[in-house]
Amino acid sequence: MSAPLTIIGSGMAGIGLLRQLRALDAQRPVTLITADSGDDYAKPLLSTGFAKRLPPDRLAARSPLRVAEQLGAVVRTHTRVEAIDLATRTLQIGAERLPWSELVLATGAAPAVPFPVPEAVGGRVFSINDLDDYRAFHGTLEALGRPGRVAIIGAGLVGCEFANDLLAGGHEVSLVAPEPAPLPRLLPEPLGRALGEAFEEAGMLLSLGVGVRALEAAGADVGLALDDGSYLEADLVLVATGLRPRTALAEAAGLAVSAAGIHTDRHLTTSVPGVHALGDVACVDGMNAMYVQPLQASAKALALTLTGTPTPVSYGPWPVVVKTPLRPVVALPPASPPARWRIEGEAGNFTALAESEDGRLIGFALTGACVRRKVELARVAPPLLG
Ligand SMILES: Cc1cc2nc3c(=O)[nH]c(=O)nc-3n(C[C@H](O)[C@H](O)[C@H](O)COP(=O)(O)OP(=O)(O)OC[C@H]3O[C@@H](n4cnc5c(N)ncnc54)[C@H](O)[C@@H]3O)c2cc1C
Repeated sequence: MSAPLTIIGSGMAGIGLLRQLRALDAQRPVTLITADSGDDYAKPLLSTGFAKRLPPDRLAARSPLRVAEQLGAVVRTHTRVEAIDLATRTLQIGAERLPWSELVLATGAAPAVPFPVPEAVGGRVFSINDLDDYRAFHGTLEALGRPGRVAIIGAGLVGCEFANDLLAGGHEVSLVAPEPAPLPRLLPEPLGRALGEAFEEAGMLLSLGVGVRALEAAGADVGLALDDGSYLEADLVLVATGLRPRTALAEAAGLAVSAAGIHTDRHLTTSVPGVHALGDVACVDGMNAMYVQPLQASAKALALTLTGTPTPVSYGPWPVVVKTPLRPVVALPPASPPARWRIEGEAGNFTALAESEDGRLIGFALTGACVRRKVELARVAPPLLG
């Protein structure tokens, strides 16, 4: 029997590719290998579960068994690939050597935690980047048997969404970040402040413009010593300080990688023919987007390429909808710093247009009632990978 097409990773990129592939080719042997539970779930829903009081298993659309049955693949869960041998076209998993015909790396990105987490508080400090992480955090919070006091470190998309969701779920939330306003990479500061005000009005404690110096055990609590000398205590800490593409496997095998991910061309092919990458781990033609729309476009293009129709990927203008119902936010951040932001609005409802030197619209950000301008503005914004 010929070696299978092998996909490493069962996130939205890995399973999304398998789904697109099966729409074009029902026969080709495919093996999907994943270090996690292999559940098919939409990661963006993880930061909406507390408000809806959904247990973690309600967030999974399909078990790995159903993925294997419905998409006709061998699915191996809780299986970590340890090395890729390009010369023999095999993967190393313990003592096993698994041959592949073509290989797809969809290994995602891992939380980057910029400070040490002392062992004494390890069981109370979490990052949530997959369903297994969510199960662990959810279980510990539920076990308190009362609303928890959760300190969230990091005010990017993941930190802000969990802050809003946990507050809506009845928990006490503090949000700590070194930037002066939430969503610093998506919003110009006045719009970030508008989100911060909505959070505070709803009862969240904001410690912005201040970093975390150290975490420590404080009885049953976790103590957070902040670098302005202030101090917070919480039952649990959620660290949401960004993600780093998981490039180690690729790098050890000799593929071209950088801090931005595994380098691929527009065909999602790495520096080695027959080896592809997509999703949060991939830096496609110089860009790593780390959002759903780019990975869906990549899965479609790569499925065509793998079935004999070489297809370069392009990303349209994709506005990010931030799930903060306390103050809705939509942003299409410009690919390079704008010459100016033109900001209009009041009372939390803002439109900010990012313009180039010659006055072209190169991105935008919207808050409150202005989010309804999303479609109109996305129509005239440039594609990020055209
Ligand atoms: C809380 C949250 C909310 C989000 N909301 C939005 C949103 O609203 N809109 C949006 O566009 N984006 C959102 N994102 C981002 C989006 O979800 C991600 O871009 C996307 O899910 C990444 O998918 P992926 O398959 O590339 O990576 P991952 O989901 O990280 O999957 C990586 C897979 O690789 C496996 N793996 C890694 N290493 C190995 C190994 N050595 N061996 C075997 N398997 C391995 C892992 O087990 C996992 O199955 C959100 C992210 C988070 C965390």
